[in-house]
Amino acid sequence: MNPARLLLVIPCYNEEAILYMTYAKLNTYYNSIKQQGLIAGDSRICFVNDGSRDKTWNIIEELCSRDPDVTGVALSRNFGHQSAIMAGLEQHMDHFDCFITIDADLQDDLNAITGMIEKHREGAMVVYGVRSDRSSDTWFKRSTAEGFYVLMQKMGVPVIFNHADFRLMDRRVLQELGNFKEINLFLRGVVPLIGFRNEKVFYNRLERQAGETKYPISKMLLFAWNGITSFSTFPMRLVLYFGFFNFLIAMGIVAYILFSYLFGYTVPGWTSTMLPLTFFSGSNMMALGLIGEYIGKIYEEVKGRPRYIIEKTINEQIL
Ligand code: UDP
Ligand code: MG
Repeated sequence: MNPARLLLVIPCYNEEAILYMTYAKLNTYYNSIKQQGLIAGDSRICFVNDGSRDKTWNIIEELCSRDPDVTGVALSRNFGHQSAIMAGLEQHMDHFDCFITIDADLQDDLNAITGMIEKHREGAMVVYGVRSDRSSDTWFKRSTAEGFYVLMQKMGVPVIFNHADFRLMDRRVLQELGNFKEINLFLRGVVPLIGFRNEKVFYNRLERQAGETKYPISKMLLFAWNGITSFSTFPMRLVLYFGFFNFLIAMGIVAYILFSYLFGYTVPGWTSTMLPLTFFSGSNMMALGLIGEYIGKIYEEVKGRPRYIIEKTINEQIL
């Protein structure tokens, strides 16, 4: 069997502090697997600049001029991690047999790539990189992330525990991925939905080598919330249960009021007015907010705006 043509896609947002190092390590690794004959000679490394405000694009341009195996894609502004990945993948869909996406910060162990390619050769269409050891993450990052996976699974979203966006996909899988049209694409949830034979490769998660995380707590929460609400209507059902529970309480209160009226305890108390009032208006607001959240999602999807806009590419012609 001929070695597969591999494309490595690296989304980059303000990664000037680490990009040279990333390239150096990636390139060494890439050349060694190429020499071993694990991947085809016309494989490539693709850096996607997700509207960085620092020198990331200049660095990508320089790498492209130095190394014909590197290609660059620049988005017209910051579209977010998931869209940047999709831009790199879709732009090159026809030229490669398999695709590996990896973060620019080298937190994912490059050595797992060999395992991914071997599993692909054995017939796996998707190979998930799974972090078996997250001890290099802070306690906070680790526990919130693991809590997130558990919550997602409980709500029926088919995420793979401790798998982020380090994965190999066959071209066939990528073609199917193109049929998932949602703008708020949550790859960790969508890829398992595609099916086909899949495997896992385990690795230790390393520390970010330089630069800062692009996911501060607020963005992390938003990402988690997007992941949940684009995949699961469970929160809405929860509100329904809650509403039903409130309704039962309200019935109890009505019975109590009637009882008081019939038996003459008609002194109206402040507590018995205020308590249900605040409670019910509070829960109403919550339910409305949640429904609004889903309507907002529908609104965004209905507009059907593009996921990303490519401004320019470099070293495209050699593909
Ligand atoms: N990233 C991106 N666009 C964004 C945010 C992040 O392309 O809007 C890239 C970033 O450059 C990195 C990857 O997504 O390659 C993951 O980001 P990061 O490592 O900061 O996230 P963390 O590992 O801390 O969750
Ligand atoms: Mg990272």
